[in-house]
Amino acid sequence: MMNITLETPLEALPSVGEKRAKSLKKLGLNNLFDLLFLFPRRYLDLRNFKKIGALVPDEFTSVKGKVMAREEQRIPVRSRVSYLKVAVSDGSGVLFLVFFNQPYLKDIFSIDKEFFINGRVEVFKGRMQMINPLYEEYRQVKKDWILPVYPLSSGLTQKYMRKLIKAVLENIEVYPHEILPLGDRHNLNIPNIKFALKNIHFPMSDINLEKARNYLVFREFFILQLGLLLKKKTEQKQGKGIIVDIEKDAIKVFQSYLPFNLTAPQKKVMEDIIADIKEGKIISRMVHGEVGSGKTVVAVFALWLIARQGYQSALLAPTEILAEQHYINWQKFFLEQNIPVAFLIGQLPEAEKNRIRNGIKSGEIKVLVGTHALLSEALEFKNLKISVVDELHKFGVKQRERLREKGEDVHYIMMSATPIPRSVALTFYGALDVSVIGELPKGKRQVISYIFPVEEKDKVYEFVKYQVSQGKQGYFVTPAIEGNENIESAIKEYERIKEIMPEISVSLLHGRMSYTEKDEIMKGFREKKAMALVATSVIESGIDVPEAAYVVIEQAERFGLAQLHQLRGRVGRAGDVGYCILIPYSFTDKDIMERLESFIKTESGFEIAEIDLKIRGQGDLLGVRQHGVPPLRIGNIVKDMELLGIAREKAEKVIKEVSVDILKEKFLKEVFINE
Ligand code: ADP
Ligand code: MG
Repeated sequence: MMNITLETPLEALPSVGEKRAKSLKKLGLNNLFDLLFLFPRRYLDLRNFKKIGALVPDEFTSVKGKVMAREEQRIPVRSRVSYLKVAVSDGSGVLFLVFFNQPYLKDIFSIDKEFFINGRVEVFKGRMQMINPLYEEYRQVKKDWILPVYPLSSGLTQKYMRKLIKAVLENIEVYPHEILPLGDRHNLNIPNIKFALKNIHFPMSDINLEKARNYLVFREFFILQLGLLLKKKTEQKQGKGIIVDIEKDAIKVFQSYLPFNLTAPQKKVMEDIIADIKEGKIISRMVHGEVGSGKTVVAVFALWLIARQGYQSALLAPTEILAEQHYINWQKFFLEQNIPVAFLIGQLPEAEKNRIRNGIKSGEIKVLVGTHALLSEALEFKNLKISVVDELHKFGVKQRERLREKGEDVHYIMMSATPIPRSVALTFYGALDVSVIGELPKGKRQVISYIFPVEEKDKVYEFVKYQVSQGKQGYFVTPAIEGNENIESAIKEYERIKEIMPEISVSLLHGRMSYTEKDEIMKGFREKKAMALVATSVIESGIDVPEAAYVVIEQAERFGLAQLHQLRGRVGRAGDVGYCILIPYSFTDKDIMERLESFIKTESGFEIAEIDLKIRGQGDLLGVRQHGVPPLRIGNIVKDMELLGIAREKAEKVIKEVSVDILKEKFLKEVFINE
């Protein structure tokens, strides 16, 4: 082979023609580097197979068998579809292999040849079969027992990919940079890059495979963390945050306007914010903590701090109800200090919206609270200096940033509704500073959770009647269907409850109501004009009605655990015990019940977040939400949490000790962080 480097384009290899190059591009592979870092999806372990006689339908497994017979057939009605049927046996039974439209396989599966087969077992007309299984001619050699299985695109085969990658591994002389010095690698029990790449593709043993994987997982996390930390470092250097002279006792002054005492962690976050500003940094901070830990006050503190300096500040909330709640709760606070504050949502009358837009443009309004309407092109600020986003998970990356782009060097604070597992925070928010509010203001809140089968709903109604007779109010929540609220089912439930409990005043709330309607309903509920509020999941985000004591969640299995925890967080806010009642409709489904049981067993949002992550896996996290971080190729933030932690520590150390230029030269070609 010619002289090849990591940058050599794949077309330059003798075994890659134009067609193949195209197929490889479809997999995102352009040069040798890409190819070497295309990790196998899984492996075929030629040492492990089952007796054919012991196969069980639906299992995914391997067997070893000799070809007994083979036959090519056509499907009569669709004559262009042909299939090859091969019977293999190991003496304990017969397995049929079915391959569609690959007539050339006839020559490969010649009689008496022995094969290793891997696939899903099906039963067809009483016979065991596998459709399009993976196969490998069985050799009595001790080499290559563990074979890689790669992702493919049309025009590529496993055999071709294996040959190609093997040839590259044998011929390449310059490998990617070593990430850590020998001593560190030794301590972590990870080998060098050459060993890792060779063994991830063609492992010589299970132990080598594990070592190779550890190396590559660590490398991936390490480079990701370096990229995130570097981004943070350069951003903060470039930023020309306004250096304002904040009085020493700003927190005390703020405190003097509050009806309660700030908790220690609340004060700590406020101190962090002050320190950032004093340093001239542009704040980029995420605040997370348990539901009800009092994140709003911290957000308001930041708005207040900036607005007092004559600059504008904005608070973005995901729903009208939540935005209004913030506005109602804090309007007086700002007005008392002569800080003009306004509220903006899409549903306001045009004249009102214009009035606010003018006030924002002229700089007269200093604090603006609202929904997505804040992101509209039509809104121009005079001198926006801080953007606070509440319930950040309800916004996409682009949306979150849009508010920030309405000014220059805008400070940016994000409130996360739920506690975030460390691994997620590191992976997705690693470029931000993170503050945790780890303590609830009124001491540990108690919400007791129960599961009731739908047949026992009567008991739930009895329980609610009792609560109401004690002067307690609460919520009935009906589930969303595929992300959309199910308004019909909310209306039905509302009618049913009115019928079953005529003595109780009930209201209905859903997202399709006009703003004024919603507003009236929420006011009435706060004033205890209604003792039960039937609602879609609109109430999930941030609603704070301290007197609410119970929440009944219909078809609880349709909600994610984090969402259930949010809903549960709506009750027991005044210091009394709250009750959360889950009514799953699939009471007999084992997985669902296990999930819900695990939910009612813990009151910790951190634990729930961890469980959720384990159940849903990182795939979901990576796929659904856009985080601006490249997808992980090999690392798994659930399984490899420990390595992720170590990688962060090492990266922090390296960022301090090594110059930015060297880092960029060495690694950063490999990171593409675009958030
Ligand atoms: P979350 O962190 O879930 O957003 P909120 O900001 O809605 O929590 O706060 C929950 C409730 O606790 C609110 O009614 C708020 O006024 C109250 N609260 C916040 N901080 C304190 C405190 N230090 N002492 C007492 N009550 C507080
Ligand atoms: Mg909140």
